Amino acid sequence: CIFGMTDYQSILERTVSHVQPFLSQGQVADYIPALAEQHLGQFAIAIQTQAGETFCAGACDAKFTVQSVSKVMTLTLALQRYGDELWQRVGKEPSGTAFNSLTQLEFENGIPRNPFINAGAIVTCDALYSRLSAPIHTMLESYRMQTGNPKLSINKVVAQSEYEHRYRNAAMAYLMKSFGNFNNEVEEVLWSYFNFCAIELNVAELAKCFSYLSNSGVCTQTKQQILPAKQVKQLNSLLFTSGLYDAAGDFGYRVGMPGKSGVSGAIIAVVPGRFTIAVWSPGLDKVGNSVAGIAALEFLAEELGTAIF
Ligand code: GLN
Repeated sequence: CIFGMTDYQSILERTVSHVQPFLSQGQVADYIPALAEQHLGQFAIAIQTQAGETFCAGACDAKFTVQSVSKVMTLTLALQRYGDELWQRVGKEPSGTAFNSLTQLEFENGIPRNPFINAGAIVTCDALYSRLSAPIHTMLESYRMQTGNPKLSINKVVAQSEYEHRYRNAAMAYLMKSFGNFNNEVEEVLWSYFNFCAIELNVAELAKCFSYLSNSGVCTQTKQQILPAKQVKQLNSLLFTSGLYDAAGDFGYRVGMPGKSGVSGAIIAVVPGRFTIAVWSPGLDKVGNSVAGIAALEFLAEELGTAIF
C-alpha cells in the first residue's frame, strides 16, 4: 500500500513474475484449428476497480478471443429481456461434466444444467435470437460500449473455424430441439454463438467490459445500469458454482471468487464491491482452463486478501 491505497500496479507486476514458471505449462486449445495457432508463453492481467481505474501488466496490447467468457454477456443480455422466465429453459446447477458434454441433456429433457456450459449458452443464444433482429450487431455494440472501444471487432477467421468444426455444439443444439427446447434455426443460432465467442479484445478491455459484475450492475465505463443489483448478485453466485465447468469447485477452493473461463485462456474473476480482474494466458489444463491464469488469480487473492469468504 502507498498512503493507505492499494498499489495495484506493483501487485500486478509481481503477479507477472510469479506466473513465469507456469507459462510453458498446459496446451493451447486445438479442437478449434484457428485457436491452435496461439502461442504458449503469453500472459496479461488487468484490474478494473469500482472507481473506474484500470491497471494492467504483462502483454497488455495482446488481443485474444473472448470464447466462453462471452457466455456471461449472453446471459446478461438474455436476463435483461426475459428475467426469471429464462430459467424455464436452462438450469442453475453445477454440471460436474465437461463444458461440451452432451450426456446430461439426454437424461434431463434437453434442459442444460447451467448457462455457462456450451449447451446452456447455446440455448440462451436461441432465446436471445428470438428477441433481437440483429443479435451479432447488438452483442458487438454491448462490448464496444462497455469497453469504451468503438473499434472492437469479431475475429472472423476464428468464428468461421468454429463454425466449420461445429459438430459437437450442433449435436447439443439438435438434441435440445428434439426435446422442444430450441425455437430458431439451429445453424443460424450457432453462427451467432460462434461470433459471440470470437469477439476479440485485450485484457484491460475484458476487465472493463465486465466491470458491472463488481459494481452492483453499473458499468464503470458508461455508468449505465446493465442489470439490477439483485440480478448481478444472482449471476455472481452462478459464476461461483459453475463458471469454470467441472473445475468450478477447485477454482472456488483455490481462488475464492466468482469467475468465468474460456478456451482462449481468458478468465474473469469478480470481487463484488471492489474490482473485476481479467487474465489471459493460452496454455490450458485438461478441463480447458488457463494454467497461468488460475495461478495468477490464486496469487492475487493471497496478495490482496480478496477471496470473498
Ligand atoms: N467457442 C468455444 C466452443 O464452443 C467455447 C468453449 C469454451 O471457451 N469453453 O467450443
